[in-house]
Amino acid sequence: MKLKAVMKIYNTLTSKKEDLKIPPSGEINLFVCGPTVYDYSHIGHARTYIFFDTLVKFMRKRLSIKINYLQNITNIDDKIIKRSAEENKNPQEVADFFEKEYINDMNSLGVSAVDTYAPATNYIPEIISQVERLIKKGFAYSADGSVYFDVRKFPEYGKLSHQKIEELKEGVRVDVEVGKKFFADFALWKASKPGEPKWDSPWGEGRPGWHIEDTAITEKHFGLRYNIHGGGLDLIFPHHEAEIAQMEAISGLSPLAEVWIHTGMLLVDGEKMSKSLGNFITIREFLKENSPQVLRYMVLSQHYRTGLDFSKKTIQMASSSINRIADFKQRLKEVTAQSSHLPWEDFAKTFWHELADDFNTPKALASLFELVTETNKLIDTNNLSQSDAQKIIDFIDEVNDILNILPKEESIPPEITALAADREKARTNKDFELSDKIRNQIKELGWEVEDTPKGPRTTKL
Ligand SMILES: [Zn+2]
Repeated sequence: MKLKAVMKIYNTLTSKKEDLKIPPSGEINLFVCGPTVYDYSHIGHARTYIFFDTLVKFMRKRLSIKINYLQNITNIDDKIIKRSAEENKNPQEVADFFEKEYINDMNSLGVSAVDTYAPATNYIPEIISQVERLIKKGFAYSADGSVYFDVRKFPEYGKLSHQKIEELKEGVRVDVEVGKKFFADFALWKASKPGEPKWDSPWGEGRPGWHIEDTAITEKHFGLRYNIHGGGLDLIFPHHEAEIAQMEAISGLSPLAEVWIHTGMLLVDGEKMSKSLGNFITIREFLKENSPQVLRYMVLSQHYRTGLDFSKKTIQMASSSINRIADFKQRLKEVTAQSSHLPWEDFAKTFWHELADDFNTPKALASLFELVTETNKLIDTNNLSQSDAQKIIDFIDEVNDILNILPKEESIPPEITALAADREKARTNKDFELSDKIRNQIKELGWEVEDTPKGPRTTKL
């Protein structure tokens, strides 16, 4: 059967931009690595999750693909245990709190495409079953109540990060634990120390390793193999490499996921964001001074695979770009002419084409701004028809339904409309003192009246 290619996407596994093919079922199973809930989420998380939110909405709404979007929540981990000890709390309490706050942050950002959030501790029997099967097949060994994956038994270890086992160097971020046969072996199950959260297992009381939770979750929801795995670039090694080793060793099938999509790093003023550098910005801090649409626009203004620089300047640029589109839309609503000479569909076509080409949002947005410039020229000379204006408005609405970058439009309350009419009357009667007074009154209520050649325009301040 010839599969229909709907868009191109870069696959880390093959290092190539490839046609994304829709399976015969017509559905795509997508898994994206979720956060470890030991602290508030930061803008680096926002970058990854806004990107996948937008990509999935594009595939669903524009390409009519059914996507099953699954994301794990790491709610058992060394970092959570450390934080709970510092705060004298129960690890589960800490994890539950930050999981809730994570969901709140995602809601604030309009990230709503995920179908299922899967907290790791809901999958302990599935995790134990995977570890048992790995031991039985000879890919894992137990030592002092812990179980490790024996990477030298899986010759393809390294295929995602494009390195060979022999070339792996000690000192890269790998688990440091006793009882391991080889430095790059990683924990599937960890014997619990006193006071740590624990579950019964065939190897004694313990807790799952980080990598095994994802494969246990995806096996339960998607089966042995699935279509797309996503996450931040920093997760390729060892995390995603370990997932491949675990699941392909169990199933004997390859690849675990056909396509691996990774988002680039977020930089703050050109530097890596870290707590030690003091440039760590949480989502809620950002949203105190900026709208979620500004963050969404910033994320989408750069290609998802490149580094995204976060600075006062890029925030400013995002904010003015958004206003430019919003003003443009407002202007389109006021168009009254009857004939047009603008091939606006060409710009729209380019826009969608760029998104279908490895989700090139910066190029797509560039074509949107070309449309703004060209259309504005026609409006200036009264050469855009009302019907074309409406079609362009519909196009912008469709774009915004996927990107969610424009400020929420608020309908003007009747009270404001009445005041604006009173002001207009005062102005016609040349009672400028009264008209200014009413304008200030309107301002105090959070609205602004602007006089344009086509009459007064009321907008939210
Ligand atoms: Zn993961």
